[in-house]
Amino acid sequence: MARYTEAYCRLCRRTGTKLMLKGERCFTEKCALERRDTPPGPHASGRKRRPKVSERGLQLMEKQKAKYTYGTFERQFHRFFQEASRVQGITGDNLVTLLERRLDNVVFRLGFADSRSQARQIVRHGHIKLNGRRTDIPSCLVKTGDVIEWRKESTKSEYYKTLVEKLEDKDVPAWLSLEKENMTGRVVSLPAAGEIKTNFNEKAIVEFYSR
Ligand code: SF4
Repeated sequence: MARYTEAYCRLCRRTGTKLMLKGERCFTEKCALERRDTPPGPHASGRKRRPKVSERGLQLMEKQKAKYTYGTFERQFHRFFQEASRVQGITGDNLVTLLERRLDNVVFRLGFADSRSQARQIVRHGHIKLNGRRTDIPSCLVKTGDVIEWRKESTKSEYYKTLVEKLEDKDVPAWLSLEKENMTGRVVSLPAAGEIKTNFNEKAIVEFYSR
């Protein structure tokens, strides 16, 4: 299965944005972007400022940020965009809602993982059940009423045991609920674009694809 092989921090340095791809590390002074806010590569380290980019380049950058944040590749991301333009409503908002509905994102939002990449791995390794069935497809979209829980076998792991303690103070977004006693999440409603804080400009993404 395809995945990003480049160091995650390089993606942040390339876009000049904290994409929060490495969990807790992103909140510490070890964050690569905090230490060196220059694009990656041998010629960039001496630069004090990022080179100017065209409007098209800026739009492309916003698309890349969204792709890196949710860990999708171009083909799949473009499919999400096509779906977002097909349904009623504002395309940019629809796109954000669709990306948020990915199972790996929901696992991350529920606090079952520190980052979306870790959530993807948890799903791929078959630790998660969606509506009572083992699901190992991170890109599968959840809907209202869906139940997300751990497989019984996976609750014996050390990771799961430390997670139970970690989640005691966890707050989840309003469109999800979490029963901490049995580590079960529920989709209360579909996420509204207004309640999702993104680190990219979805309007610029729509403009990028509209040319
Ligand atoms: Fe990005 Fe996190 Fe790496 Fe900082 S630590 S550069 S926010 S992935």
